[in-house]
Amino acid sequence: MKQIFEDTSIAFRLKSDSELERAYFLFKLIANQPLVKIGTAVTNFALNAHLPVEGLIRATVFDHFCGGVNEKDCMSVIDNMYEAGVYSILDYSVEGKTVENQLDHALEKILKVLDFVKEKQAIPFAVFKPTAFARFGLLEKVNQKANLSEDEKAEWQRVVNRYDQVCKKAHQLDVSLLIDAEESWIQEAADTLAWEMMLKYNKEKPVVFNTAQMYRWDRLEFLNRLYQNAKEYGVKVGIKAVRGAYMEKENNRAEEHNYKSPICESKQATDINFDEGIVFMAERLDVFTIFAGTHNEESSYKLMQIMADKGIDNSDQSIWFGQLYGMSDNISYNLAANGYNAAKYLPYGPVRDVMPYLIRRAEENTSVAGQTSRELELLRKERNRRKM
Ligand SMILES: Cc1cc2nc3c(=O)[nH]c(=O)nc-3n(C[C@H](O)[C@H](O)[C@H](O)COP(=O)(O)OP(=O)(O)OC[C@H]3O[C@@H](n4cnc5c(N)ncnc54)[C@H](O)[C@@H]3O)c2cc1C
Repeated sequence: MKQIFEDTSIAFRLKSDSELERAYFLFKLIANQPLVKIGTAVTNFALNAHLPVEGLIRATVFDHFCGGVNEKDCMSVIDNMYEAGVYSILDYSVEGKTVENQLDHALEKILKVLDFVKEKQAIPFAVFKPTAFARFGLLEKVNQKANLSEDEKAEWQRVVNRYDQVCKKAHQLDVSLLIDAEESWIQEAADTLAWEMMLKYNKEKPVVFNTAQMYRWDRLEFLNRLYQNAKEYGVKVGIKAVRGAYMEKENNRAEEHNYKSPICESKQATDINFDEGIVFMAERLDVFTIFAGTHNEESSYKLMQIMADKGIDNSDQSIWFGQLYGMSDNISYNLAANGYNAAKYLPYGPVRDVMPYLIRRAEENTSVAGQTSRELELLRKERNRRKM
């Protein structure tokens, strides 16, 4: 497969020289683990103490990884990316809300985004997280199949209704809807809900997409089961395949509670599992539509090779590639330049509320040393090319 991801002139075509400098500076900072730890603690303290640091956060890490504080803010980014052939997925990244009216607020946001998706060709999917619509503790209890109190039963019914409202609207508008995956100890509850929605709304086409975190060693079996059920019930299945973002948390909890970690035993095992999952689905496109959410070049090349081998057109709607805004532009823009369906999650929300997301990005880029050095190497290459 031709190595298309090396072309930094395409990768960073939307970045001005000053934006390129900012990205370079940012990734150099993020590469420094102690600095990220201290920076995270200081930022949290400053925000809690209501110190005026939002401007500083916006000018640095926020603007690099987020589209803005609201949908309107994101429009110029969306239009610019679309001109370069890259789609956007508006991701309302406010996390950790537990109060009912906050969950309802998230529902309103996603319903509004569905209207955007319908109107804007540049936005092919809407997305939400299970914990945007449900209190974590409740998901955990449902996951354990524990007895719910009367109040909790009513609360759960409201969660089901939120899911149903967005999926129903997505179906009516004929737009696709991704559901993110989170911690394994709430995921079965979330998977069951997603399946119920697929049963209702994915009869003709994959409206609802669930996420398979392939760092879990049980996910191939999960995909297999989904396939059997989909065949039995005549359902189309959309799957966003990712490696998974909660590895440390998962391993720590498993150790603490003395059970076998759900995470593959090594990075290599995760890589194999991810690629096998993609092959499994690519061989069953009668049922599956694939959204490969990855910054891994090898996995992306492998999927491109599968498409070439099977004679699948680059722009075939049954295969999508996805990256996060602010990361792996070399993959997104070069895929788009070669006619593939490439989309970027574009997180947005009030600065204070997207902090958990931003901290995860900083930590992820610190811990995945390969990824940071890759970003830096590409930024350095482009700086040299521009003779900066
Ligand atoms: C569009 C998009 C949507 C996403 N949605 C979700 C989501 O809904 N839920 C979610 O959890 N994540 C999500 N992610 C994040 C994703 O799971 C990864 O954290 C991130 O993309 C890094 O993995 P990678 O495939 O890019 O490749 P790489 O950088 O090659 O892989 C890094 C990943 O490998 C795994 N890994 C690393 N070391 C080990 C080890 N020692 N043992 C086992 N496994 C290891 C971890 O999952 C780690 O994140 C999404 C990512 C994208 C791009």
